[in-house]
Amino acid sequence: MARYVYDFHEGGRDMAGLLGGKGSNLAEMTRLGLPVPPGFTITTEACRAFLDTGGEPAGMAREVSAHLADVESAAGRRLGQPGDPLLLSVRSGARFSMPGMMETILDIGLNDESVLGLAKVSGSERFAWDSYRRLVQMFGSTVMGVGSSHFERALALLKEACGAPDDVHLGADDLARLVETYKDIIRTETGESFPQSPAEQLRRAVLAVFESWNGERARLYRRREHIADDLGTAVNVQRMVFGNLGSDSGSGVAFTRDPATGRPGPYGDYLPDAQGEDVVAGIRNTVPLAELERLDPRAYRELRAHMATLEQHYRDLCDIEFTIERGRLWMLQTRVGKRTAEAAFAIAAELADEGLITPDEGLARVSGEGLARLMFPRFDTSATDVALAHGLPASPGAAVGAAVFDSAEAVRRTAAGEKVVLVRQATTPDDLPGMIAAQAVLTSRGGKTSHAAVVARGMGKVCVCGAEDLSVDLEARRLIAPDGTVVEEGTVLSVDGSAGAVYPGSVPLVASAVMRFLEAGATGDAAGGPAAATETAGKETPGVVDAVARALNRADAVRRLEVRANADTPEDAVRARRFGAQGVGLCRTEHMFLGERRKLVEQMILAGTDAQRDRALAALLPLQREDFTGILEAMDGLPVTIRLLDPPLHEFLPDHTELAVRIATAQARGGLPAAHDVELLTAVTRMHEENPMLGLRGVRLGLVVPGLVAMQVRAIGEAVARRLSAGGDPKAEIMVPLVGDVRELRIVREEVRRVLAEVSQASGVRVDCPVGTMIELPRAALTAGRIAEEAEFFSFGTNDLTQTTWGFSRDDVEAEFFSAYLDKGVFPVSPFETLDRDGVGRLVDIAVAEGRATRPGLKIGVCGEHGGDPDSVHFFHTAGLDYVSCSPFRVPVARLEAGRATLEGTDASDSR
Ligand code: ADP
Ligand code: MG
Ligand code: MG
Repeated sequence: MARYVYDFHEGGRDMAGLLGGKGSNLAEMTRLGLPVPPGFTITTEACRAFLDTGGEPAGMAREVSAHLADVESAAGRRLGQPGDPLLLSVRSGARFSMPGMMETILDIGLNDESVLGLAKVSGSERFAWDSYRRLVQMFGSTVMGVGSSHFERALALLKEACGAPDDVHLGADDLARLVETYKDIIRTETGESFPQSPAEQLRRAVLAVFESWNGERARLYRRREHIADDLGTAVNVQRMVFGNLGSDSGSGVAFTRDPATGRPGPYGDYLPDAQGEDVVAGIRNTVPLAELERLDPRAYRELRAHMATLEQHYRDLCDIEFTIERGRLWMLQTRVGKRTAEAAFAIAAELADEGLITPDEGLARVSGEGLARLMFPRFDTSATDVALAHGLPASPGAAVGAAVFDSAEAVRRTAAGEKVVLVRQATTPDDLPGMIAAQAVLTSRGGKTSHAAVVARGMGKVCVCGAEDLSVDLEARRLIAPDGTVVEEGTVLSVDGSAGAVYPGSVPLVASAVMRFLEAGATGDAAGGPAAATETAGKETPGVVDAVARALNRADAVRRLEVRANADTPEDAVRARRFGAQGVGLCRTEHMFLGERRKLVEQMILAGTDAQRDRALAALLPLQREDFTGILEAMDGLPVTIRLLDPPLHEFLPDHTELAVRIATAQARGGLPAAHDVELLTAVTRMHEENPMLGLRGVRLGLVVPGLVAMQVRAIGEAVARRLSAGGDPKAEIMVPLVGDVRELRIVREEVRRVLAEVSQASGVRVDCPVGTMIELPRAALTAGRIAEEAEFFSFGTNDLTQTTWGFSRDDVEAEFFSAYLDKGVFPVSPFETLDRDGVGRLVDIAVAEGRATRPGLKIGVCGEHGGDPDSVHFFHTAGLDYVSCSPFRVPVARLEAGRATLEGTDASDSR
């Protein structure tokens, strides 16, 4: 028969699935011999049975009674015993801590009779009535469903009537009166009386915890965080200890290290004469933990010893709740504490130094996401900068601009050269132009999957959403901050998307210390290095730069994946190299056709004869050669993968409407339109495509536009020849986009060979470049075995592969329906941010296996944006790729995650 209840002595932290996080850690502390008030845990399995059947599982009540009897006999008192009552707390505790679960109920077992007994044995009437009023309020609101504002109002009125500045100033009589008021409130609101039977209080509290699993807030939270709905919660029943017994008592929270900076040493808050949440509820001012040393040196020393024990045992930062009852310390909760990115790096390095964890464990405990956060420029906030409001940190970074209240205004002001922050209650697809124009987006409503958040993240734009304290008045074109400050349109705001804060005015921006360090050359060969960057780190935590450097070094030592960068210019290539890139995985050539050169491209497109076309191509050739020479020089000795022209040619021609209008205007004036315009319009009309993403682009261009491939290959070949003659070590690789069939690649490759042979002959230098292909169409992945006959390398273009696998175009869908899909749980996360393993990932697996079956050792990489996404990097590692390539700024993130990927499934990553 299933067992539903475990004493704290029987569990441990490896039982979190059954006992929940709180219960398993209480058991662990009990096992370590720390002073934990005795108690027991009702399992998540009991909760699941209750939720399935709507009733308590058979046998649970008997087990609870038996365990309660143990707690009672250890205490020498019975639950609610009138003369000397044993009191209990009932605490929810799921596998993952979760908002929306039932709040803890303290002091169960008090009633009109036992409150008098408690007063007598404790020697404090005030304490007894204070505990009772807390029970009636907590039970009334959480179990009986009375709105807590009723109780709060009654308390406020009483304080006013007594002239008491805070609750400590209320006497026993006042509190006794308050209990009566509370009981009346419950009767009026529910038609029921506050239950006097301690056993009934306990039973109802336990069942209320079970029921709270399916509360609306909890369900919403689980869906957002991808926590399964069928885990259920455990319930912890524990003997009460009292921090509200006078000035020699109190309650507090403590961290074994500073969770904001990672600095070693105790950190926390203490509140004398307080119970439960008082310390975090802000009802009275707390004192820093260090102050406890003065107030109660013995309890403080003991607490420090327990903190050290816990940190040694968990081998990590621990977050602790404790209570002191008349000088006696009790431990009420612990867990591995949440921390900032900065603290995560600092703590990992410190613990490794202390020998508590291995360097690999240290690496497992930091993340690329955290590193990215440390690389964003930050506001140089001084102590005087007070945030106007706080919201959700939806998309990181720091931005400054004038507040505007609609999309059109954002576009208008941006066109006039102004920087703006788009402020809305919530955004819709109609706001897209404004979001593109703005430096940052600020909304007063919506969570991290709201339209604003999703689209901003997709664009890499700073966003704070759900700043509910702000009232956004679109009519009056202004917002009102919680402190009453009115921000009219045009007022400058500073938006911190990493912290979720908004500041008035323009807060200066500075590069982060970590960024300055990486910019100086992460390999340490450039000037600066960790030490220099730390010196200038200002008020950022000293040591964080050093900790980042160590994590990156460890990652570099263990990773199998190479990391390259996507870079189109020599400047980008130089930066990427400083960030540790081992080559260029994608050099796009399209921007090289813009600006001044657009005219030449136009001539090539409009060419009526071979000679005209050849002239245009011949003019482009030397320009392209310069481009490639520069990048090959910047990446000397490292591979540079150059992709042949990919976008449809009409992207280089003027807009259809613009031309038509120009011609019509000329005609309306009675004149003749310019011949060139007419010619262009004909070409644009002829080349119009309904779905350009699926049209004449990529390799298809190479097959139908004579001379285009030859010109690009010649430019690459000549650049290589020059670099070789100059004593360099150029490693150009030629990549053909959008191949769907091996025959396409074969045709192009023959042309490449022919042109390179000509270049070799003309220059007298042997030029040889591997020719490979992108795999970015499902057909390419499915026929990769054939394609590998011609391809000397593969590079997954996961952006197009995602679009063509799903059958949607990113530009059209992201703003239109992605937030709805995320909200409804169709995707856990956008497939453009994190690779869709089930669909796109399967195509990747097929292509890797079949490509290498044809050509053992085939070099395979990825050059889509996914190459810099932590989760996707782990997938590419497992899929057996050789390298990932991403934007230069993501290179350090990819290096770190490529290292972490090798630890997956090892002791290092399971150590917690
Ligand atoms: P949460 O999950 O919100 O942290 P807890 O179960 O930890 O809720 O309880 C809320 C507060 O009540 C905490 O401050 C906790 O320390 C306190 N508390 C819980 N159980 C007891 C107890 N047996 N004696 C005294 N205080 C308790
Ligand atoms: Mg709470
Ligand atoms: Mg707690």
